[in-house]
Amino acid sequence: MQTKYIFVTGGVVSSLGKGIISASIGQLLQARGYKVTIQKFDPYINIDPGTLNPYEHGECFVTEDGFETDLDLGHYERFTGIHTTRDNSITTGRIYKTVIDRERRGDYLGKTIQVVPHITDEIKRRMLRQDVQDETIDFVITEVGGTIGDIESQPFIEAIRQLRCQPGRCNVVCVHLTYVPYLKAADELKTKPTQHSVKELQGMGIQPDILVLRTERHLDDAMRMKVASFCNVDLECVVQSEDMPSIYEVPVSMQRQGLDAAILRKLGIPVGETPAMTNWHKFLDKQRNTTREIHIALVGKYDLQDAYKSIRESLNLAGIYNGAKTAINFVNSEVIDEKNIATKLYGMAGVLICPGFGQRGIEGKIIAANYCRTHDIPTFGICLGMQMMVIEYARNVLGYEDADSTEMNPNTTHKVIDLMEEQKSITQMGGTMRLGTYDCELAEGSRASKAYDGIGPIYERHRHRYEFNNAYKTEYEVAGMKCVGINPGANLVEIVEIPDKRWYIGTQFHPEYSSTVLHPHPLFMSFIKACI
Ligand code: GLN
Repeated sequence: MQTKYIFVTGGVVSSLGKGIISASIGQLLQARGYKVTIQKFDPYINIDPGTLNPYEHGECFVTEDGFETDLDLGHYERFTGIHTTRDNSITTGRIYKTVIDRERRGDYLGKTIQVVPHITDEIKRRMLRQDVQDETIDFVITEVGGTIGDIESQPFIEAIRQLRCQPGRCNVVCVHLTYVPYLKAADELKTKPTQHSVKELQGMGIQPDILVLRTERHLDDAMRMKVASFCNVDLECVVQSEDMPSIYEVPVSMQRQGLDAAILRKLGIPVGETPAMTNWHKFLDKQRNTTREIHIALVGKYDLQDAYKSIRESLNLAGIYNGAKTAINFVNSEVIDEKNIATKLYGMAGVLICPGFGQRGIEGKIIAANYCRTHDIPTFGICLGMQMMVIEYARNVLGYEDADSTEMNPNTTHKVIDLMEEQKSITQMGGTMRLGTYDCELAEGSRASKAYDGIGPIYERHRHRYEFNNAYKTEYEVAGMKCVGINPGANLVEIVEIPDKRWYIGTQFHPEYSSTVLHPHPLFMSFIKACI
């Protein structure tokens, strides 16, 4: 089949869940046997979100090929199981950089370089994935970040308009997601913002084919009909995205309303039978039938849902597969001290010590690690979390009081976490960490290897500059903290554990990036099992 292009834009307000809708469309088309990829175009000028504070843009998701991307790629992967790459996350900054580099090389042969056509041409090239080699994809779903009307997303919208006018225009479908607010005082749902948003899009030359209306209350047929007629859209192409108890219910709701069928019809593709999505439904049944609740503490410094998105989802998913609803209790590491730690962690079945960068809140993480180790609470340290477990052990078991990471204290005598050799000469911050998938061998008989059901190699994604200092390895092992996961190529310690604790494991890599709805991550599964 010739590749088809689905564009997902958003109107009225941000945070409507375009990522979830895009991921759901991907999943529904996959269920029909199509090969799908999903990409995100973000209007900001950063080359990638790797240098962004999580408060700005939530978690930074890392692809297997080591690209730092928007957290929506996490949704794409969790819903569809596809592995995204650096080609699936594009920013205005990257578009401009490519064009400017080309200009400096003299490739434009004396032309004046302009937003239209040079920037828009580069956007189109990326939207059509012309750089991606050997790709056989039936559907490319492109989510455009931001909200219609933003100055900064205009070139993306213009590029979509041009793609629609080009020969082969029937290969493009535009899905627009808007918001229908409910006014309590009037007891009414209001479609006017949607009408305005569609008008704005039409003013930019795009007639949306399909409207997805986000709403907190059910929209009746009369309401949908009104939107359909005012916005020039077929009634069957107006679907609603009501608040759901879980985001994983969204694909099923979209399928029930025929969103995927509407897309196929618009593209002139025979619709065929509705796929059963048996495994997904099995998962949803498990989710609906969890019988117990467990409390997990998330020790980190960003009190924002999106900052640890993949970790939260991985904990939830592993909980569901173990028959439990995971209640996540955020514990701000900046306010943890020796006196309050017992109260802060009271009632927690397990503790997860979060990744992070920089000094702020790390002493709290070390205190939490100490409390968990000495009270034998199941504990999972990820990246910086693992490093804090290692430092705590050095300070309190090996007796090196000033043990530290050189990230926090470059002058410490006991650099148990130190900069990797190849990192020492790096001056540029963006995209220069140890990023992406590396292999890791597991020590036979270790708890980690049992969780993975074998000795590996396993492949996990990384995002860090510092590492366990091998000079201390023997001392740790003799004292009781074992290095049970090793990257064979560079001999780097990737997993530590204390075998005589119930579950005390730290990983230098980020298992949360590869946990999906149908394949929850083995370490999260094992951790939650221990917590239960
Ligand atoms: N700041 C630490 C490092 O660079 C840990 C990074 C992380 O937690 N992702 O090694």
